[in-house]
Amino acid sequence: MLPPDNHVHTQFSWDAPGVASMAGSCEQALAVGVGCVAFTDHLDFTDWTDGDLIGEENLDPRRYPAMRLLDVTGYLAAVEECRGRYPDLRILSGAEIGEAHMFGASAAALVAAARFDRVLGSLHAVPFGGRLTAADELFGRLPADEVMRRYFAEVVRLIEGSDVFEVLAHLDFPRRNWPQAAGPYDEAAFEAEYRAVLRALADSGRVLEVNTKSPLASVTLMGWWRDAGGRAVSFGSDAHQPWRVGAKFKLAVDVVEAAGFRAGRDRFDFWRL
Ligand SMILES: [Zn+2]
Ligand SMILES: [Zn+2]
Repeated sequence: MLPPDNHVHTQFSWDAPGVASMAGSCEQALAVGVGCVAFTDHLDFTDWTDGDLIGEENLDPRRYPAMRLLDVTGYLAAVEECRGRYPDLRILSGAEIGEAHMFGASAAALVAAARFDRVLGSLHAVPFGGRLTAADELFGRLPADEVMRRYFAEVVRLIEGSDVFEVLAHLDFPRRNWPQAAGPYDEAAFEAEYRAVLRALADSGRVLEVNTKSPLASVTLMGWWRDAGGRAVSFGSDAHQPWRVGAKFKLAVDVVEAAGFRAGRDRFDFWRL
């Protein structure tokens, strides 16, 4: 039995490809031995309300024209339907909230109403040039190491500025787009920045995600998480297509176990020290 996949997207995500399917993801989970999935569709805000930092900082939040707010009612109905259809699978509701520190009031109101089981916090964009700019877009404009440093600094702001999420998703997201011309990506070159992120996360008692869509975290990196006081790990495939549910989980389990984390008595819980 593989760990819970706590990071799966469905047709309700605004960036979902045509093949995205909640039901298909349930069937894949059962087929590959993932006994529990959390459907964490994107919750990205394209507008702000009073109390959102982004308004005070006067930043334009729109990065992609396709971005639209999650249909929470439709999403929750689909989760209920899948729970009825796949009784052998534990299905958690959830969301992946983008830049929650920028949309504090909006995010708090929505999460309180939806009563999600799993809430992931993500940073996909950083303030640059008067707007929230997609992290991967920055590589053409700034030196590669500068992009990572800005990203990590903003992740610390995210953690310290929002308590609406429980799990920090893909902590080094721009690494997915690290330019070849900059040479191989080296975690050690950013050790201080990783440690600052991990300390902030551990200090707030939250959970680190091992994301298997990103290049896999090393055992050394998971050791930095322990050093920081981190006690819990979440596995996430970040699947946008059903066939990716649980992808690379055996490798991820090896890394997380090598760092000393184990499945708990409740196999649907996070892995802990
Ligand atoms: Zn994400
Ligand atoms: Zn995601």
